[in-house]
Amino acid sequence: MKESYLIKPLLDENYPVAAYGKGIYLYDSEGKEYIDGSSGAVTAGIGHGVLEIAAVMKEQAEKVSFVYRSQFSNEPAEKLAVKLKSWAPGDVNWTFFVNSGSEATETALKVALQYWQEKGKPTKTKVLSRWMSYHGITLGALSMSGHVGRRERFTPLLEDFPTLNPPYCYRCPFNRTYPECALHCAKELETAIRRIGADHIAAFIAEPIIGASGAAVVPPDGYYETISEICKRNDILFIADEVMTGIGRCGTRFAIDHWNVTPDIMALGKGLGAGYAPIAATMISDRVMEPIFKGSKLIMSGHTYSANPQSAAVALTVLNYIERHNLIEQSRNVGAYLKDQLKVLQQKYPMIGDVRGRGMLTGVEFVSNIFNKLPFASEIHVSRTIIERAMKKGLIVYPASAGVDGLGGDAVIIAPPLVTKKEEADKIVRLFDQTVKEVQDELQVGGFF
Ligand code: PMP
Repeated sequence: MKESYLIKPLLDENYPVAAYGKGIYLYDSEGKEYIDGSSGAVTAGIGHGVLEIAAVMKEQAEKVSFVYRSQFSNEPAEKLAVKLKSWAPGDVNWTFFVNSGSEATETALKVALQYWQEKGKPTKTKVLSRWMSYHGITLGALSMSGHVGRRERFTPLLEDFPTLNPPYCYRCPFNRTYPECALHCAKELETAIRRIGADHIAAFIAEPIIGASGAAVVPPDGYYETISEICKRNDILFIADEVMTGIGRCGTRFAIDHWNVTPDIMALGKGLGAGYAPIAATMISDRVMEPIFKGSKLIMSGHTYSANPQSAAVALTVLNYIERHNLIEQSRNVGAYLKDQLKVLQQKYPMIGDVRGRGMLTGVEFVSNIFNKLPFASEIHVSRTIIERAMKKGLIVYPASAGVDGLGGDAVIIAPPLVTKKEEADKIVRLFDQTVKEVQDELQVGGFF
């Protein structure tokens, strides 16, 4: 594009212009083909160019595209809330619609505070979170995010909510090993509660599997059961941020379903609209809704486009599509296969320190030394180079930070659409293999490895 006034992520970068998408493939305006190995930002769950969605968008636009939530309810949003109730665990039955993951987590925060106010405990205002986490870019969501780089500029405006160390076994912050560690990382929550005082804490928020801030870090078994037990015993709500991990991405409806735990509140986004419409949601349990129904009878939040019929019709079709095509099972099976194949690459390339994830959310972490897990120096931009080289070869992978506190440490997320077939996973692995080989050879020549 010759003339552009569009503010892009890196202002001096030339980005290819997307022209067309079909399934797991994207094509730019020059006709070059890319495999969308990251579903964009882990979003395009059902792949690109699904005609059924286009048809529903047209149909809904012809009926009614917009009504305002305090004037009308609408059929797609009502149906979507019923569908989400059937997907969500336990008594997580209620849905408040928003438009982005950040709004979903920020609403979760507000609902948690409101819950305690309605219960006559207004001093419960802090939200505990973990370092190495990302819950969104708005100030409330950023306050909860343990992402050093993204907080930096705005520190004076942020609350110090990140308190706990991450459950990051590859680089255990406590230098322990599972199971001898006895889940020290989860028990740290109890210590934090004792120090701060349960009377001041409204909720604990976590991504069930750490996404952008850790590249698909899966906690050890028993972690969430311990967290949930500590939260319950101390009267603290547990918020599961499923913005990246939900809607089948991790081989189950929600990532938290891998463990025997029901959150009090869940935040959804990304895969809900699957890239076809901006829609996200805060789901709330009966237990949390009860005092709100008895008390002020409204959630003190909302956006002009909340529960927009057009977006809701899209999301409802996405969920039906996932069910009809058994995409959760496919995500579980093809995702496990993809991870195994990436583990084969790990044997081949010493710069791959760790391969991890669940379902169709996998992470690859790079190290300069597999024995002491030393990260590469940040100045040599290893993950950025991997991403650029993969892109040249027609494979899109997603940047993630890794390493303690998200400082240093190179990693990428490979998370293709849930519709990815085994042969397509092979193609992704082949291109990634070539990419890692090229970069590792260059690092060796440069003496960095
Ligand atoms: N929570 C998590 C776990 C996320 O991964 C993201 C986005 N990467 C967000 C919240 C924020 O979502 P959005 O970018 O849609 O505001």
